Amino acid sequence: MKALDVVPLPPADPHRGVRVFSDYRGPVRDACDVLVIGSGPGGAIVAKELAERGKDVVLLEEGPPFGAKDMRQEAHESLRRTMREAGTRTTRGSVFMPTIQAIALGGGSLVNSAISCRAPDWALDGWAERHGLASLGGGSLDAHYTAVEQFLGIAPTPDEVLGERNRLFKRGCDALGWSSEPTPRNVRQCKGSAECFTGCRNGAKQSTDVSYVPAAIRAGARVYTSVRAEHLTGDTRRVDGVRGHVVEPFTGRASHEARFDAKCVVLAAGCMQTPVIVQRSGIGNRSGQVGNHLHAHPGLTIMGIYPHRVEPWQGATQGFHSLEFLREGMKLEVLWGPPALLAMRFPGFGLEFKEHLLAYDRMASFDVFVAAHRSTGRVRAPLFGWNPRIDFEIHPEDMALLQKGLCRLVELSFAAGAERVLPGIHGVPDVLTPATGVGPLANAKVAPRDTTVGATHLFGTTRMGTDPRTSVTDAWGKFHEVDNLYAADTGLFPDSTAVNPMLTCMALAHRIAGGIADRSLG
Ligand SMILES: Cc1cc2nc3c(=O)[nH]c(=O)nc-3n(C[C@H](O)[C@H](O)[C@H](O)COP(=O)(O)OP(=O)(O)OC[C@H]3O[C@@H](n4cnc5c(N)ncnc54)[C@H](O)[C@@H]3O)c2cc1C
Ligand code: SF4
Repeated sequence: MKALDVVPLPPADPHRGVRVFSDYRGPVRDACDVLVIGSGPGGAIVAKELAERGKDVVLLEEGPPFGAKDMRQEAHESLRRTMREAGTRTTRGSVFMPTIQAIALGGGSLVNSAISCRAPDWALDGWAERHGLASLGGGSLDAHYTAVEQFLGIAPTPDEVLGERNRLFKRGCDALGWSSEPTPRNVRQCKGSAECFTGCRNGAKQSTDVSYVPAAIRAGARVYTSVRAEHLTGDTRRVDGVRGHVVEPFTGRASHEARFDAKCVVLAAGCMQTPVIVQRSGIGNRSGQVGNHLHAHPGLTIMGIYPHRVEPWQGATQGFHSLEFLREGMKLEVLWGPPALLAMRFPGFGLEFKEHLLAYDRMASFDVFVAAHRSTGRVRAPLFGWNPRIDFEIHPEDMALLQKGLCRLVELSFAAGAERVLPGIHGVPDVLTPATGVGPLANAKVAPRDTTVGATHLFGTTRMGTDPRTSVTDAWGKFHEVDNLYAADTGLFPDSTAVNPMLTCMALAHRIAGGIADRSLG
């Protein structure tokens, strides 16, 4: 029987049974076997898998649930509602690099493009070799990848929803002899509306709030949204729960106290928030490693303008990609987003700026991200509040790789028939044409601060490893220093996945849940 035959579609109200802000009339208190913090790709899977294996599970999420009626297409309003720090979170260091993170039931899966790629075996072999993670080499996650892919119905983007923007990318790759393919995505009956970034109003994207969370609830888990976990309780060898507060959606104002007792705690608050909870608690960080080794996939975008109508707002948000240069450390993709966000990268003022806007219906945007093994940073809890301080330095060699990737996108756009390309780099001509070619960009000396580099793929802050002096958790996500504390978000990655991280985060979470299920929790 095919997987799609056995996995039921989500119920009409996928958030039924989820506790929301208005449900809390006083202090909140509960006790369970396993307390999972964070409902994104990592946490939601752990909650569902453990609830289905008979554990009494509580899942905490700081953000609210978003149904179709709660989503906003306008960029500013959407960012304000769905993202931490209203989408303005950036790193400090050689560049202010935006690093948005969602605050919502479903975490990043609510607002991401649904790209669901397995990490190539050679990337996982690199993890095993460099970090002593013998059990995590190539092939080790296959069964876990398969379980998640079948549950979510992950499949390559079908032709019918590609639209011209994705087809242009394929055309350009074909003309240059580069491989390309429709991206595998966790969607069902996608309408190709290109609005993944502001949430899928069509109910097609299988973000964890409409897939794993409802399944966890069906299996008996209790899900509390608008509750922020703040401090782990217990001692340095064993945690016994978490304290926190109920927080109002969108303002973050704290109200009632919240307290949860648990035999085991799984931190899946994302690689920028999990370190804040651990550092504030003074548990699990004797080594001082928590929050170190932040890694990212820095990315850049170009805009191509074509002689014909592209209608870029039609077609899957990121429906095509090229893995041709993955071994070199770069991945090329199609991209689309809310117009106000894309327009921020257009050059010029007044009439010139308006002329670029007028070509909106003839545009197609492509992006590149790099594995950036040499670039690193750290996350630290702030003195006040809960928004971390994030430092990050882009290594010159990674910057050079990014510039090379950007040049390839320009070539790709011209090969697809673009008449103009807006590279969006300070010090490079605002507009490149087939006559100028890619030369002015290729020959420029580009520094991180000349770019609008951003990163939505972040990892490494509670990394797995065998040496407690250089890593935080073991290969099963358990903190070296604490018997019953686990991590299950992208903070676990000891290095890049080479591709988009969500599916590997889910596969690891699936594996970690299996490990916890097999343990006696005492
Ligand atoms: C715009 C965008 C597009 C992306 N596109 C893709 C893509 O197409 N494919 C892909 O593979 N990856 C993509 N990514 C990256 C991917 O979404 C993330 O890697 C993934 O969501 C990480 O999962 P996580 O479980 O580690 O953390 P998160 O998804 O960040 O989930 C953590 C959850 O914990 C909650 N939380 C945090 N602190 C607390 C607390 N103190 N108490 C309670 N709850 C808390 C957060 O609100 C959040 O819901 C994208 C990311 C973004 C932002
Ligand atoms: S492209 Fe549109 S319909 Fe398809 S998953 Fe994204 S938002 Fe949903």
